Amino acid sequence: MLSDPVRRLDIVDLARERTPAMAANGYDAIVIGGGHNGLVAAGYLAKMGARVVVLEAREKTGGAADTSAPFPDHPDVRVTTLSYVMSLMPPTLVRDLRLESFGYRVFPMGPLYSPLPGDGAIRLVEDRDELRERLARFSKRDADAYGDWTAWIERSAALLGPVLMETPPKVGSTAPGDVIEQARFLLRRRRGMSVRQAADITKLFTMSAADLLSEWFKSEEVMGALSTDGIIGTWAGPEEPGTAYVLMHHSVGDLGDGQISAWGYPEGGMGAVSLALQRSAESFGAEVRVNAPVERVLVRDGRAVGAVIEGGEEFHAPLLVTACHPAIAFLEHLDRNELPDTFVRDIESWKTRSGTVKVNLALSHLPQFRDDPGGDPEIRGASIMIAPSIRYLERAFEEARDGRAATAPFSETCVPSVFDRTLAPEGMHVMSMFTQWVPHEWADERHQEELEAYADRMIDIHEDFIPGLKEAIVGRQVIGPWQMEHEWGLIGGNIFHGELAPNQLFHMRPAPGYADYRTPIRGLYQASSATHAGGGVTGLPGHHAVREIVRDRKRRRR
Ligand SMILES: Cc1cc2nc3c(=O)[nH]c(=O)nc-3n(C[C@H](O)[C@H](O)[C@H](O)COP(=O)(O)OP(=O)(O)OC[C@H]3O[C@@H](n4cnc5c(N)ncnc54)[C@H](O)[C@@H]3O)c2cc1C
Repeated sequence: MLSDPVRRLDIVDLARERTPAMAANGYDAIVIGGGHNGLVAAGYLAKMGARVVVLEAREKTGGAADTSAPFPDHPDVRVTTLSYVMSLMPPTLVRDLRLESFGYRVFPMGPLYSPLPGDGAIRLVEDRDELRERLARFSKRDADAYGDWTAWIERSAALLGPVLMETPPKVGSTAPGDVIEQARFLLRRRRGMSVRQAADITKLFTMSAADLLSEWFKSEEVMGALSTDGIIGTWAGPEEPGTAYVLMHHSVGDLGDGQISAWGYPEGGMGAVSLALQRSAESFGAEVRVNAPVERVLVRDGRAVGAVIEGGEEFHAPLLVTACHPAIAFLEHLDRNELPDTFVRDIESWKTRSGTVKVNLALSHLPQFRDDPGGDPEIRGASIMIAPSIRYLERAFEEARDGRAATAPFSETCVPSVFDRTLAPEGMHVMSMFTQWVPHEWADERHQEELEAYADRMIDIHEDFIPGLKEAIVGRQVIGPWQMEHEWGLIGGNIFHGELAPNQLFHMRPAPGYADYRTPIRGLYQASSATHAGGGVTGLPGHHAVREIVRDRKRRRR
């Protein structure tokens, strides 16, 4: 079960540490970065009675969990700017922070629909008999194997899901406390583990999504559609080792939180999730300062004591939580000589590429889909995958790796306005295309013209199975890696603050020895998506960082 750090914090009172010297802009805790993780940390800290200020660089909170109205001619059409689907935010967190009373509501995501060029589609419908019949059109063997595959991946996800709820032990450390933590971690894994399970986990961490899927399936079309979970946000095609893990990561539903997390589209777009988190934190007394870009973290005698924002205003607190990308948190906000050399090297070598482009469209109406003359909400509201084969996806990646935007890109497309009528006026719709790949080097320059040409190609591909789409488009927004880095602080354009590659997971996320939400600076904790259980809009890093703060404070009190 997820533990509410607040319930376990009855004795800790950060307010006692307030000193007269801190009276001006003096707080118990400063959170740097008002993305959803920063807001989760602020909410929990404020709930336990701490005076908290959140310092956010942009004009609003939310970071990559944002809703905006980017079309001047249609100011009442709103899009979910970057992220678009909720996945692993634990129900306990939603309850602890009372998010539903601040407008948090999720519409369940429709089943996967992968249209094929010209004709036909893979549809992973709920009804088992219909699903079998649909898959058998591509391969009888694949239709037979599908049930075994889902059971296998769900078993592995069930084993690894609860790991996302834990703080990684310091793997390799021989300090007595760390040895105990490592042993405890392994003991907790005993249940459900067997020689076979260990082999399965090894496969997930070392294989490509394509190789893994080929152990069950033959059909190019079926494998293309099923491999998509393995490439979301990756700087790697489905044939690259390590993508099997990403596939499993996106298959986790149960964190061992007692309930399955809801996969779906939040009402009001992802910005509504951030707004609910902000309102929750404010209801517990947190202060949120926007347009407050932090320039420096103040460190005295190896301890964080405050932060300075652009313009020179200082904020003081004995406790800081940074929820910014590690390149910002450690290489910009701190002097390198305040940090161990090895740590600086680890952060400098942190891989943070993905070549993702987000295309958001305003539609005057939603044209009929080729495969859906009747307007079935299971198709219009589906998770639409442009992934007709493994080769198609791998080629898109290889082109980007060679320095060219993909000729025929991958997209996960959705039309959230099918469920959520708050996003567009009656009759109008919004379409969200999460696409890959352009060269990751495009994070260094805007490349807007090429991005527009790339979006044109993407729209052409959709026109094939949504005839009339182009004519329905009345507004479009194309966001590439440069804009993600410069406007949102997503360095290198990576959507998760750092690649979800096996060498950047668990005890390595974001650096060996500092995967426990602590940092080399006393009093400074980290809670961004670059820590264990990130990325994604889960709130897990924010929650876990506060749990470690509570642990440290209890220890000090003993
Ligand atoms: C295109 C795209 C699509 C995605 N799709 C999904 C999806 O569908 N589902 C999903 O679960 N996840 C998705 N993700 C990933 C997910 O959105 C992120 O992992 C998550 O939102 C990151 O949250 P965070 O709070 O850790 O960081 P961020 O949201 O990046 O927040 C960090 C905050 O710090 C602020 N900041 C930066 N520098 C400073 C400074 N100097 N001073 C003060 N503040 C600063 C930033 O402005 C930002 O608000 C997507 C991401 C992208 C980019």
